[in-house]
Amino acid sequence: SKENGRNGFSFYFEELNIDNERVITLDTEIRKAIENRDFTLYYQPKVNIEQNKIVGLEALVRWKNDKLGFVSPGEFIPYAEESGLIIPISEIILEKACEDLVLLRAVGYSKLTIAINISSIHFQQTNFLESIQKILEKENTSAQNFEIEVTERTVMNSDEETIRKLVRLKQLGFKLAIDDFGTGYSSLSYLVRFPLDYLKIDSSFIQHIVTLDDKQAVVDAIIQMAHRLNMEVIAEGVESVQQLNLLRKMGCDYIQGYYYSRPVPMDELIEFLQLWEYE
Ligand code: C2E
Ligand code: CA
Ligand code: CA
Ligand code: CA
Repeated sequence: SKENGRNGFSFYFEELNIDNERVITLDTEIRKAIENRDFTLYYQPKVNIEQNKIVGLEALVRWKNDKLGFVSPGEFIPYAEESGLIIPISEIILEKACEDLVLLRAVGYSKLTIAINISSIHFQQTNFLESIQKILEKENTSAQNFEIEVTERTVMNSDEETIRKLVRLKQLGFKLAIDDFGTGYSSLSYLVRFPLDYLKIDSSFIQHIVTLDDKQAVVDAIIQMAHRLNMEVIAEGVESVQQLNLLRKMGCDYIQGYYYSRPVPMDELIEFLQLWEYE
């Protein structure tokens, strides 16, 4: 029953209606994939609207498995969070991003920052900061190259420990972004308390921005509020030139979305970058 399943992953999978057999296969295959570092990163460019330049990339994990085929992060990340496997996966992702920075630098793109999604389960580990620092040291990479994206769920408690970690990340040189803004929790107090650089407006607001006046009003208000708090705004899920023009008019700083590019593997990314002005 639901009650019995509440503490295990069974609750989660009951909700998702994923059958038991798939869960067992998923568990076995994820563990193997961790062992073999079998994840790759795709990258989606982030464009500065005013300058029409690519200023950064968001790393999005991809996993193709022999038995299961392509498994979307929307499926395996929540499972990895439930089972704790997100921590080794997250470490592999950061290591791969460090390696990809070396590739980018080799072809002349040394100023692009990479945004990494950090799950709240990983963030809340007591040794989170140490684990990240250890990887950067091992890969000989500086935090200046990275942005960290956390969701509202990660910061909603506004407790001292969360503040301490965010401040420390800033001191190390990371830029900080709040992901999926507007989808989570009503309290905005954390925006004032935390040293955040970017606010990413969730694609659910952007989707109907051209046709629905109330969505437009909310996005406009979010942009103004963020600027008053000295944050820059990234709109995600931008698919049309109409959305782009509206966001530009509202003073939005950066755009991500299929309008410019889907997330692509490193070789395609490098080809894509060559079509753009750089520096
Ligand atoms: P997210 O961080 O909000 O990432 C944005 C998602 O929107 C990505 O889906 C991206 O491919 C998709 N997207 C980008 N532009 C557009 C657009 O114009 N239209 C539409 N319809 N979609 C767009 P993806 O890659 O499937 O990732 C889904 C979620 O899985 C992410 O949402 C994030 O929460 C999680 N995730 C992905 N990669 C990682 C990772 O490396 N680590 C962690 N912890 N979570 C990840
Ligand atoms: Ca994200
Ligand atoms: Ca997002
Ligand atoms: Ca999302």
